[in-house]
Amino acid sequence: MTNECNIIRDLLPLYVEHLVSSDTAEFVEAHLKTCAACRKVHAHMAESDSVSISKEEMLPLQTLRKSLLRKKLQTILLTAMLVAAILVSAFAAATSPEYFPYSEGLLSVKENPDQSVTITFADQVTCYRYTRCTDPDGNASLSYEIEAWDSLWDRWFANRGAQSVTLKPEGGQPFVVYYTSNNMEQNVCIYGQEPADSGSISTPRLVLGYYFAIASLALFLLTILWFLFRRRDSARIWIERIRLFPASYLLGHLIIQGTHTISYSMPRDFLYILTVSLLLSCTLLLLHGIRLQRRERTD
Ligand SMILES: [Zn+2]
Repeated sequence: MTNECNIIRDLLPLYVEHLVSSDTAEFVEAHLKTCAACRKVHAHMAESDSVSISKEEMLPLQTLRKSLLRKKLQTILLTAMLVAAILVSAFAAATSPEYFPYSEGLLSVKENPDQSVTITFADQVTCYRYTRCTDPDGNASLSYEIEAWDSLWDRWFANRGAQSVTLKPEGGQPFVVYYTSNNMEQNVCIYGQEPADSGSISTPRLVLGYYFAIASLALFLLTILWFLFRRRDSARIWIERIRLFPASYLLGHLIIQGTHTISYSMPRDFLYILTVSLLLSCTLLLLHGIRLQRRERTD
């Protein structure tokens, strides 16, 4: 008997029960082909139902195998979610709009014979948006607010060239077009007769700041609850789980928005924060579960 035979004899009971990996199975089979002595042992083991390992002995092996499989799955899931969170964050950063402040040459305004107005942007503008603003009292005339931006992503991949937009009057009434720089500077009137009392500033949305504050408060309160219930296992574990959500939201906000709480592109920023924080909370929940399993095993 060679050294290899010894190894094969050790492995055979597991091999017969299909409890070895495919690599090990191949190794065993290769040896059996060349070694008559081991082949005999294997044949004996395979035909006699009295396998050397009893069912009771096999149980721990099966649970071990299951837990190994579970660990593998957990690792794959964790990696996938982390990678997704990183990709979404990177994409959000790359496509984050960088608004152009108003300057000569950023756009040109042309009045058309049908009273509409065509605004053509300079080449560096890759995106624009206009908002139709009406006075609820109906006193002031119709006005449009235009903003223009590009992003890191656009500078790398998009080459849209000059873009233009045509704005039309409504009911034959004259209208005003403002350019919004989104930097707390006054809107610039680029077309029409600006009313005397105007001079508006487009203010950023503050709602992300409120959400941040609410999540911070929730995290704070849950931490107090955790402290109160820290000796009661099941309550503590649930508080720990719930607490991961506000914590992930705060993390998501910091990743997408940095320390800014104001936003000029609110729905977009909020959507990215939600996506990243959801991925992070799944990741953290899984980690929390793994930690619990580990603690149970060591107890
Ligand atoms: Zn052998």
